[in-house]
Amino acid sequence: MKKYLISLISLTLLVFTSCQPVKNSGKKTLGKYVLVIHGGAGVIEKKLMTPEKEKRYRDKLQQVIDSGEFILKRGGSALDAVTKCITMMEDSPLFNAGKGSVFNARGENEMDASIMDGKNLMAGAVANVHVIKNPILAARAVMEHTPHVLLISKGAEIFAAKQGLQMEDSSYFFTESRWKSYLKVKAKMAQGEKHGTVGAVALDKHGNLAAGTSTGGMTCKMYGRVGDSPIIGAGTYADNATCAVSCTGYGEYFIRNVVAYDISALMKYSGLSLKEAANYDILVKLKKQGGEGGVIAVDRTGHFTMTFNTPGMFRAYATSEGFHGVGMYADQ
Ligand code: ASP
Repeated sequence: MKKYLISLISLTLLVFTSCQPVKNSGKKTLGKYVLVIHGGAGVIEKKLMTPEKEKRYRDKLQQVIDSGEFILKRGGSALDAVTKCITMMEDSPLFNAGKGSVFNARGENEMDASIMDGKNLMAGAVANVHVIKNPILAARAVMEHTPHVLLISKGAEIFAAKQGLQMEDSSYFFTESRWKSYLKVKAKMAQGEKHGTVGAVALDKHGNLAAGTSTGGMTCKMYGRVGDSPIIGAGTYADNATCAVSCTGYGEYFIRNVVAYDISALMKYSGLSLKEAANYDILVKLKKQGGEGGVIAVDRTGHFTMTFNTPGMFRAYATSEGFHGVGMYADQ
């Protein structure tokens, strides 16, 4: 099985993959940290960008990764770094999460988010929320202050308000560019190709892994539709025994293939490396099915991968070994 998977993977050119050059010690390394973030995969091509727009994305990704790294460098938890990075991207109108979320078929913002702690396999998620400023904070509150994993809609909003989280009027989430995309997609009467989503994965100095994902979903999605992002195992997964994963892309494919958990399971039960597992899911399995998207993932030893089968994925990484980078297109 392993041989078959590896040969399939090597047949697939690794053009769309970037992986950091850290040696594999095969052991968990305390004192080392790794942080990887994404701002969504999709049709991100140089020819569609203006230099100003590109700079805005680069600067924001840099600011987010720096803030997350600051936490890890000081010995903070992977969970706190992931939460901080996602909150910052939710607050930025550049990404499809929080402020700047895409619109559903009824012209509303309907957001999903999840978070998972690899230390104890605890997880929290919210789906179909409209007025919570930072859905990732609500997901974390579900994990930390309820016996449940997933709260949806009004129930999630009432809970978040009781937790003291900030609520916003629907006008806060509105951005002109997302509204224009919505009108364009609506005119074609189709679910939009436009995806986005933000996510972060981290390994902290204590050897703990965490992952989180937050999204507005897909433009013109059906009212009530839930994607992979708040589904533990599909869009988000973390287990200290293997890896932490955050996905972005056409959510239905990620749900059907249980991608985030599958990457962890391929490592655990088939002995694949993180890169082999992510390549197999994204570049072989999903690609064959027409499922567009990508993942960011970090394993327990600090290897990380940013694998996608789309023209681009907004991404950035920082490690205690001094590797830093921001990327957008496939050839970066
Ligand atoms: N995965 C998200 C969803 O399907 C969208 C995205 O990542 O772009 O809701």
